[in-house]
Amino acid sequence: MIRTWANLRDDPIQPIMVERTKNDPSPLMGEIRPDIFYKVDIVVIGGGQAGLSAAYHLKKEGVPPGRGFVVLDDEFGPGGAWQHRWDSLTLSNVNGINDLPGMAFAQAVDTADTELQANLAVPTYYGHYEKTFELPIIRPIRVWEVTRGKGRFTIRTNGVQFSARGIINATGTWKTPHCPRYPGWEGFKGRQLHTGDYRSAEDFRDKHVIIVGGGISAVQMLGEVSQVARTTWVTRTPPDFRDYAFNPEHGREAVAMVDQRVREGLPPRSVVSVTGLPITPAIAALLKKGVMEPRPMFDEITATGVRWADGSVLGADVIFWNTGFRHSLDHLAPLGLKNASGGIEMSGKLATQVTRDPRIHLTGYGPSSSTIGANRAGRAAARELIATLGVRTP
Ligand code: FAD
Repeated sequence: MIRTWANLRDDPIQPIMVERTKNDPSPLMGEIRPDIFYKVDIVVIGGGQAGLSAAYHLKKEGVPPGRGFVVLDDEFGPGGAWQHRWDSLTLSNVNGINDLPGMAFAQAVDTADTELQANLAVPTYYGHYEKTFELPIIRPIRVWEVTRGKGRFTIRTNGVQFSARGIINATGTWKTPHCPRYPGWEGFKGRQLHTGDYRSAEDFRDKHVIIVGGGISAVQMLGEVSQVARTTWVTRTPPDFRDYAFNPEHGREAVAMVDQRVREGLPPRSVVSVTGLPITPAIAALLKKGVMEPRPMFDEITATGVRWADGSVLGADVIFWNTGFRHSLDHLAPLGLKNASGGIEMSGKLATQVTRDPRIHLTGYGPSSSTIGANRAGRAAARELIATLGVRTP
């Protein structure tokens, strides 16, 4: 059986697979004691780009791996969310994968091979990275909740428990797909799936697929699925096509806007709400082909399709929700970090520090939710947290 997060949930106590590193004197390595709380200075939650970058910088700043910090990741291998991306996402059509600090992507994989699948290339890179820098990654281990007590945090997991003075949370978004529930959802007889479930357009050959969503994922999926199936595109608001070539300056402006929002304590907004949909050559070709004629969002799902408020109906075999992801932060709920608007007020150099509790940093959150942002955030978070906690480093 493939071990996925879904069946990990049914099987809560998992062995912790730790590779003992030669510099690591920590007593927790190799031992499973769910009844014991291991004391460390800092726990990094999540082992994707954001977690690895934070771990690299903690170690570089002199925090000892093991006793000083550990990284807890609930996957069965390296790669974070990248190991779950669909096969047709290759190095030629990803938006861009930024190097981790200290080792270039090209040192681990042949990045000139543009047909290389991202779901193989990135895990290979991260795996190589973890080994080279001997980062104390513990996996698979799921953090269920983080609570406060006696000046420390208690980190409850499906394996051993931890007590830490500070937290760098780097849990990404992949584990929390967002899917709005429309009336009739349960009664649909066809297939419903989210971007995160997508494997290959071949699964939809000769079917009628309703693609929901106005973001980049929906557009990419239209491009793929429309080659083998009939597609109908529905969006809640009209797609925001913009006739400009996206460049690094636009990227910086978008990040600055999200940075401002989270500093004001507002929930981060989707990338497309800031950048719009720049008309790339691929999008221009799809527009020309006529597969990108959006219809307004339907009001109800029927057993065999969807219905709009004016009574018109459309039959469908598949409803494909490309409606985004939310930051995976449920395990931090007991800490009460959110304000009345549902946002978390952030501060610090790169807006990674939680204003309400500066012992907590969120990386890969808001302005740092990209490989380049996650990278920089790891450095800022490591340095600021060491200073806040007064962790003694050589
Ligand atoms: P992740 O890679 O998701 O890593 C988080 C890790 O934490 C995972 O291993 C997860 O399993 C683990 N975790 C989560 N919850 C827990 C828990 N409670 N306990 C223990 N472990 C936990 N960005 C780019 O820069 N370029 C792109 O081309 C690009 N393409 C994208 C395509 C899609 C479809 C999506 C959804 C996002 C894309 N992004 C892209 C954004 C991308 O996800 C980030 O850039 C980056 O890889 C995220 O890194 P991360 O470390 O924050 O999250």
